[in-house]
Amino acid sequence: MADLSFEFPDGSVKQFADAVVGEEIAKSISISLAKKAVAAKVDGKLHSVNEPLHKGGKLEIITKDSEEGLTVLRQTAAQILKMAINQDFTNVKIGESVADEDGFYVDTDKPDTQISVDELEGLSKTMKKIVSDNLEIKSVELSVADAKALAGEDPYQNSLIDKLAVDGQVLYNEIGDFKGIAEGAVLPKTGAVKIFKLLSVAGAYWEGKSSNPMLQRIYATAFNKQGELDEDLKKRQEAHDRDHRVIGNQLDLFFVDPKVGAGLPYWMPNGATIRRTIERYIIDREVANGYKHVYTPVLANLDLYKQSGHWDHYREDMFPPMDMGDGEMLELRPMNCPSHIQVYKHHIRSYRELPLRIAELGMMHRYEKSGALSGLQRVREMTLNDGHTFVTLDQIQEEFQKILKLMVSVYHDFDINDYTFRLSYRDPQNTEKYFDDDEMWNRAQSMLKNAMDELGLDYVEAEGEAAFYGPKLDVQTKTALGNEETLSTIQLDFMLPERFDLHYIGEDGKEHRPVMIHRGLVSTMERFTAYLTEIYKGAFPTWLAPQQVKIIPVSEQKHGKFAQEIGEKLRGFNIRADVEERPEKMGYLIRDAQTHKIPYTLVVGDEEMNSGSVSVRKYGEDDSKSESVDSFVDEIRHDIDT
Ligand code: ATP
Ligand code: ZN
Repeated sequence: MADLSFEFPDGSVKQFADAVVGEEIAKSISISLAKKAVAAKVDGKLHSVNEPLHKGGKLEIITKDSEEGLTVLRQTAAQILKMAINQDFTNVKIGESVADEDGFYVDTDKPDTQISVDELEGLSKTMKKIVSDNLEIKSVELSVADAKALAGEDPYQNSLIDKLAVDGQVLYNEIGDFKGIAEGAVLPKTGAVKIFKLLSVAGAYWEGKSSNPMLQRIYATAFNKQGELDEDLKKRQEAHDRDHRVIGNQLDLFFVDPKVGAGLPYWMPNGATIRRTIERYIIDREVANGYKHVYTPVLANLDLYKQSGHWDHYREDMFPPMDMGDGEMLELRPMNCPSHIQVYKHHIRSYRELPLRIAELGMMHRYEKSGALSGLQRVREMTLNDGHTFVTLDQIQEEFQKILKLMVSVYHDFDINDYTFRLSYRDPQNTEKYFDDDEMWNRAQSMLKNAMDELGLDYVEAEGEAAFYGPKLDVQTKTALGNEETLSTIQLDFMLPERFDLHYIGEDGKEHRPVMIHRGLVSTMERFTAYLTEIYKGAFPTWLAPQQVKIIPVSEQKHGKFAQEIGEKLRGFNIRADVEERPEKMGYLIRDAQTHKIPYTLVVGDEEMNSGSVSVRKYGEDDSKSESVDSFVDEIRHDIDT
């Protein structure tokens, strides 16, 4: 058999016989390295130290304390979990298992009921037994025929065999009489996985396709040290407490029901109040900054999107057109730009009107992949705080800066501080993906850069992240789960004015082509509400809070009427105040108002009724103070206004 040659990180090259294992190679370097080795990385792919290698290449020995070492530990834990599932249940099929920097998971399919979170403890016990038995984990190779015989009718195992077979061989991890398909490097003994935790279960489509069956995914993690696991669990808990889907449920803000429509949220009164407040605020700010607000339809003739280029470049994200049966094809818009172009075109425009700023809270639809949908953060129907400014070439830089300043001021009002700017350029290696005009790209990209530099703002530059029609500035933030997302964007566009043959009459009396700037200040109402929910942890500042005041009468019978009068008075000042009417104990009602993060709780009893005052407790504070109703009105009005 031919020798394999491996190149070591120091550049030296050694030959080994075919089917050499990583452990042997490590030993050839040093015994101490062999002891620490948890995997052999060949040309970027991790192999178990006892796995026969059939191809040479660039070799690196991975040790326990590295990030990749942790992945090996987690993949080992995943194999042990698979074995435990096999021992505890006779009828559960096993799908894919994945280990990465977040932890690991195993997909399962249990007929009729699916594995539930209550069953994790039992599985965890079985895993602990396998770990304490410190069983050997062998790497064994089966021919595809033998592997298929072992898999029998199991569709998932058969599909994994097809996916993972290399040169007619499939690698398995054999632990006792259990054989699991190897989906990554594992450690040679089960005893190494002492610190692990099964976290949760959630539905996941096989291969991520919604046309495939829904499997049950068991999420888990493993670490080398208990302290690291504790730290990780704490972080997960924090992320959970911040997760807008969790808070959205607690505060009854919104819901999404996949049976009615995945990615199509319903805004409950509390969520709708937050949204309405944002909408009113942003429209007022924009009108004050020279924007003209419009309403335009969500549906348009498909030809509009053929002309705009969306149909060619963006079709994957669009809902299929509706065939109206009389030759007309109607399309749900994925973006509002073509609509605002119609507004521009409706009149002959003069240079005196530019910059012309058309804005709308524009509803749009995008067919996002079902696996990417997440609460309000990524949806299929959304309303964008959209605006399109039409400018002359000379006005670009100034208008771009104006938008940026407005954006930063809006962020300030929402107390948003944690964000970064990203300038997105086209990929210079792959220019055919983009609108074809080199000069336009170079010019537009440098204009954005100059504008940023002039304002002295920090930014990162990202090649290949531009839209197909022009470069853009994105404002990046992080979700509770740590994923980066785009909140606001300003995008230059030289293409659409061309495609729609837009012009304005210049000072010279001749026709000129305007440039278009697309901009979204606070993103979609959906994503922005999700984001705010997470940064405030549901404790919305008073001006945004769905319920601003909860009034609790000490005795409904004695003080109920007085409480109602105060409620009416506050509502008269546009303050969102409700009177508590449930016949529960006072202590419970006060705690409940705190759980719902209502900014002000007012308690009214005999004393308050006699003196026309209220006992005020602010959210997050233990003490309450007594004040007259009028002075409370002044206080909360001031809080809301500032
Ligand atoms: P992403 O990269 O997040 O898919 P995009 O670059 O396609 O966004 P744009 O076309 O620029 O987004 O849309 C404007 C804004 O709308 C985005 O910056 C983002 O904040 C928001 N947005 C985009 N897609 C969604 C969605 N599916 N759900 C909620 N908000 C969205
Ligand atoms: Zn646009």
